[in-house]
Amino acid sequence: MEENIRVVVAGGGTAGWLTAYSLVTRLGNLLEITLVESDQIGTVGVGEATVPTMRKFHHIFKVDEREFMRATQATFKLGIFFDHWGAPGDSYIHTFGVAGQSTWMAGFHQYWMEARANGFGGSLGDYCLELKAANAGKFAVKAGETPLAYAYHLDATAYAGFLRRKSESLGVRRVEGKISEITVDPVTGDIRSLELEHDRRVAGDFFIDCTGFGGLLIGGALGVEYEDWSHWLAADRALAVQTTSIEPPPPYTRAIAHASGWQWRIPLQSRTGNGLVYSSRFCSDDDARATLLGNITGKTITEPRPLRFKTGFRKNAWRKNCVAIGLSSGFLEPLESTSIHLITTSLIRLMKLFPFSGAMAPLADHFNRETRIEWEAVRDFIILHYKQTQREDSEFWNYYRTMDIPDSLAHRMEIFGENGHVWPDLVSLFRTNSWVQVMIGQGLFPKHRHGAGRILPPEALKQELGKLSAFVNQNLARLPDHNDFIKQYCPAQN
Ligand SMILES: Cc1cc2nc3c(=O)[nH]c(=O)nc-3n(C[C@H](O)[C@H](O)[C@H](O)COP(=O)(O)OP(=O)(O)OC[C@H]3O[C@@H](n4cnc5c(N)ncnc54)[C@H](O)[C@@H]3O)c2cc1C
Repeated sequence: MEENIRVVVAGGGTAGWLTAYSLVTRLGNLLEITLVESDQIGTVGVGEATVPTMRKFHHIFKVDEREFMRATQATFKLGIFFDHWGAPGDSYIHTFGVAGQSTWMAGFHQYWMEARANGFGGSLGDYCLELKAANAGKFAVKAGETPLAYAYHLDATAYAGFLRRKSESLGVRRVEGKISEITVDPVTGDIRSLELEHDRRVAGDFFIDCTGFGGLLIGGALGVEYEDWSHWLAADRALAVQTTSIEPPPPYTRAIAHASGWQWRIPLQSRTGNGLVYSSRFCSDDDARATLLGNITGKTITEPRPLRFKTGFRKNAWRKNCVAIGLSSGFLEPLESTSIHLITTSLIRLMKLFPFSGAMAPLADHFNRETRIEWEAVRDFIILHYKQTQREDSEFWNYYRTMDIPDSLAHRMEIFGENGHVWPDLVSLFRTNSWVQVMIGQGLFPKHRHGAGRILPPEALKQELGKLSAFVNQNLARLPDHNDFIKQYCPAQN
């Protein structure tokens, strides 16, 4: 009988415990999993907003939605409300929902733009249930037979604890201790063991680096370089603070642009998470503190916590017998709440390519290629929010508005600006609906339209649009208040 592969997960933040939990749930009888973490070092613990793919991940790995939501003070998220991004005073919602009905030839927005040119059609959001529900503070997992597209806001520390309890009960061994050295085989270049303080050692066959920004294994021991993307995404600091809630939780995240940064507001059942993301090139720490504390609602319940980061990407997240997952593999600011998503997709990719036979180089190569495609797509989507702006009120916005952008994004913006054509990114996290909402929301309105909207005479188009918006309104009327739904569906445990 073959021996179980010894997997060592270094680090126990959201990435470490998601890794341990997903491996033990699906491959537990083939692997012997040990997780090493250090209470002395702690975790980042601020990843609190998510995207809908988390639901699929939970489904695959058998996480019960209500149990998870009760344990993590979670609320529902239908999208992100962006304030002052395109111009001071502007706002729009990027929802997870789909507006109207597209055809194979053209996105729904093309029909809507044709209607607008003929003097009817209202706003694009009139055709999106999730957007209207977010505005009305309503939510249920389904409106009649129509499921809603949604994600969660959660308490990151509670989530790691929830996954830890489940992982340990399924057989993951947790070792408390600080990694002081990493032993690399001088012949093969593989990692052999983690040396902990007080002469303890954890040996393994395969290592997963979840040590956070430090990337102790992938960067420290294996020397994989970090590709710096901060010329496109200049933010390098954040200040996070928790406050009491002054109102029932809305079913969306708020991303409020300021003169030299942006502020998040994430509603949980018991409190609100807040933070300011800014760039030390354009904003001092004192100004960041004043901006954040001057724009929160409710009373602070924690001291403001500073965080530093460098936006970028580990050139090879998998090298030798080590894969980096989580912050050790790179960082993109949390504007579209994508970090936990990128952890889960890396895990699924790793499990598909898991090196059971020991031959690693081709598997690693494939993993690294796919990971790059995925990260670059998310990077472009985040840059769009900064680049496509009319703001001229600070050095920060002037820098973003006038900077060069990746060719891939420039190509997209040019085509959309010309005739509204849009396509999903290659890994389909941000589908056409997301690109359309953000491009139009930020003020990029196509000069011309596809002819699809003129195939029907205007009267017939009007009728079709009327039916679609009536359907949305009927479903909206079926939805309860978001907070009432939480109270009966998944009230927090304490
Ligand atoms: C400002 C900010 C806001 C964010 N908001 C969001 C969001 O809204 N949504 C989202 O999806 N993501 C968000 N993220 C990202 C999210 O926080 C991370 O992706 C997530 O927490 C995973 O972190 P991690 O587990 O990789 O690292 P960490 O949380 O840093 O965990 C690292 C682990 O490694 C251990 N460790 C490190 N060194 C050693 C050592 N020498 N010995 C032993 N153990 C060690 C630590 O003890 C810890 O357990 C945000 C990040 C930041 C900075």
